[in-house]
Amino acid sequence: MPAVTVPDPLILPAVEVDGARTPRFRQVQRLVEAIKTYEGEGFPVRRPFPGLDRAAADPFILLDQMGEVQYAPGEAKGAPDHPHRGFETVTYMIDGEFVHRDSTGGGGVIANGDTQWMTAGAGIVHSEMPPERLVRSGGLFHGVQLWVNLPAAKKWSPPRYQDIAARSVALLRSADGGALVRVIAGELGGVKGPGVTQTPITYLHVTLLPGSRLEMPWRPDHNALVYALGGFGSVGAEGTPLRSGQLAVLGPGGAVRVDGSGEQDSRTPTFDVLVLGGRPIGEPVVQYGPFVMNTREEIVQAIADYQSGRMGSIPAVHFEAGPR
Ligand code: MN
Repeated sequence: MPAVTVPDPLILPAVEVDGARTPRFRQVQRLVEAIKTYEGEGFPVRRPFPGLDRAAADPFILLDQMGEVQYAPGEAKGAPDHPHRGFETVTYMIDGEFVHRDSTGGGGVIANGDTQWMTAGAGIVHSEMPPERLVRSGGLFHGVQLWVNLPAAKKWSPPRYQDIAARSVALLRSADGGALVRVIAGELGGVKGPGVTQTPITYLHVTLLPGSRLEMPWRPDHNALVYALGGFGSVGAEGTPLRSGQLAVLGPGGAVRVDGSGEQDSRTPTFDVLVLGGRPIGEPVVQYGPFVMNTREEIVQAIADYQSGRMGSIPAVHFEAGPR
């Protein structure tokens, strides 16, 4: 699981909770097991939500761990042309690549540690496909797609992208030096991640060495979700065990604790988690497939707009990903 790593985390700034103010560590309220399903043309995903109640995940709508899968030649799959309206898709590639094309004529490659933050807003049609090279020769594919809701006032904004290169992600370490924290968006311990968000959100990918502990301040007005991508560990004030494919929903408090178990298996030598938080939007959510709106009428309109071509289509002459 490479994403971005550093040879010596001790050179990084440490994130710590302020001991003098003794914040309350959040406790695990609920553990959710991701469902295993398939997306697009049939690539495997683990999906912890939707499935848990929307209020607990608000402002997040969906989380898919794509893979991890080792494709044989000819096996790699993606998601051909499809629309989105009313929210943002955030694609974080950990291993492997996706080629992206869309109805605004845009396109590019999301690879190894890069994040594409796409604000679908009023509507876009796009495709997310493995590059020809990966289809031909096979290879490793592992990433995350997070759907972030937009408040009603921003659902009709024009589509936009942020291409967040792996090297631009802000890096921190735990006090003990055993955990590497990648800040993709939001702010942690005074360090800001590169992602620009429409409502306040924090998005972290943390790698914990066996036996390491991460303690970090967490905004009390944000929710807190910890999803295990790989390995074993525990989370929360009471050290609730968490393993690959499980999501912990944390209760109120001003700090978050995550521990890497001393025992990891040889295939996944570290405990890797996503830590997500945001200020709940608190509006009604009506989701129908790739559309996330406030009312049923807006969903009906989205379907009609897509079917009549008002969300556009991907130009016939499009971007081709060259060799990297
Ligand atoms: Mn999509």
